[in-house]
Amino acid sequence: MATNRTFTMIKPDAVENNYIGGILKMINDAGFRIVALKYTKLSTEAAGKFYEVHKERPFYGELVTYMSNGPIVAAILEKDNAVADFRTLIGATDPTKADEGTIRKIYAKSIAANAVHGSDSDENAQIEGDFFFSKLERF
Ligand code: ATP
Ligand code: MG
Repeated sequence: MATNRTFTMIKPDAVENNYIGGILKMINDAGFRIVALKYTKLSTEAAGKFYEVHKERPFYGELVTYMSNGPIVAAILEKDNAVADFRTLIGATDPTKADEGTIRKIYAKSIAANAVHGSDSDENAQIEGDFFFSKLERF
């Protein structure tokens, strides 16, 4: 079933560079409503679990280390066509290939430290949101 929600994280590199405000402004300006929001830090174990789908990929170890290296901002976002529209807003995984005006083009340093996460399907948006937020934390 298609939903109108997606899940995002502002990743450690973007938090460290003080891009939280700029990224949240771009998200709001693009028409997404914030359903849930949390400033937190992933343990190595939690990052490993979150990215379990990438376990077999060569960059898995690097990704888990990087994502548990500093605080992140997690959020559930709402908008019509949320998953696809948010992927458009953030741009390609590799910021050198991201379109002008996308979050990754503006804020990402590299393919590994690429500023934001965006869910790739409605199913994963649900799973990822549930990973971070209880029912009481959604508005
Ligand atoms: P995300 O899931 O974070 O929104 P994505 O869907 O654009 O990103 P994925 O293929 O799901 O890209 O990869 C997950 C994350 O793994 C990327 O965002 C990036 O941080 C890291 N990653 C992807 N490819 C590479 C690579 N070739 N080298 C290093 N890190 C990578
Ligand atoms: Mg992905």
